Amino acid sequence: MLQHTRAVVYNQAQMNPRPELKFQLNIELDKRTCTSSVFHTSVIKLHPALAKDESLEYVDDYYKTHEKELKNAVEKMKTDWLTIERKFFEIVSKLVNHPWPKGKYVCYLSIFNCNPRFIETKEFQAYFKHPETTNHVCAHELLHFIFYDYFEKNFSEDYKKLDSKYIWRLSEIVNDVLLRLPEFVAITGRKAPAVYAETTQELASAIKLWSETKTVKAFVTNYLVHWNTAEVSSRI
Ligand SMILES: [Zn+2]
Repeated sequence: MLQHTRAVVYNQAQMNPRPELKFQLNIELDKRTCTSSVFHTSVIKLHPALAKDESLEYVDDYYKTHEKELKNAVEKMKTDWLTIERKFFEIVSKLVNHPWPKGKYVCYLSIFNCNPRFIETKEFQAYFKHPETTNHVCAHELLHFIFYDYFEKNFSEDYKKLDSKYIWRLSEIVNDVLLRLPEFVAITGRKAPAVYAETTQELASAIKLWSETKTVKAFVTNYLVHWNTAEVSSRI
């Protein structure tokens, strides 16, 4: 019996290897973030000089004048993540019974507070002074990566038929709910992270739905039944 249990654990570990999250500087990616019209407001909020002059020399200069600070920040992001990494993957494997999708898994430090992610390649940027802490950003983005793949494989009909914005919203709602669970709060230290639901009422309904479902599968199944695209706007 014991042997059998061991074999199961071993197989699960083989099927579900934990990705190793890397941390890097990437000035070219920051230049892309800097010039993206989507992020313009957030970019100039922290770097007002860019409002008048969108020159990419600003980014070069910033990286040069803050070289030591940025290098230290990457090291700190790495060290911080190592303190919660093992626990994070343990919690996720209990909540989402799904292998981690293949990808690069790189967190790039950013001097901008925009924090975009690239679902296809499993890369994302994190503002190096993020108020929610970079550990929280990493947990949030990694949950998006696994949830997206989980949803695509386990709810493939819905994945094909639903609007991508609706799926994105569902992914944020799942994050809202999961990252408020005590086991995650214990490692992120964020009891009340940013709300991604469109209203606090929607968040409260999602938390209630989780208390009635308790698994990602049941939560998503119920969410899709009760909160279809047409109903979502009338419910909130
Ligand atoms: Zn998100």
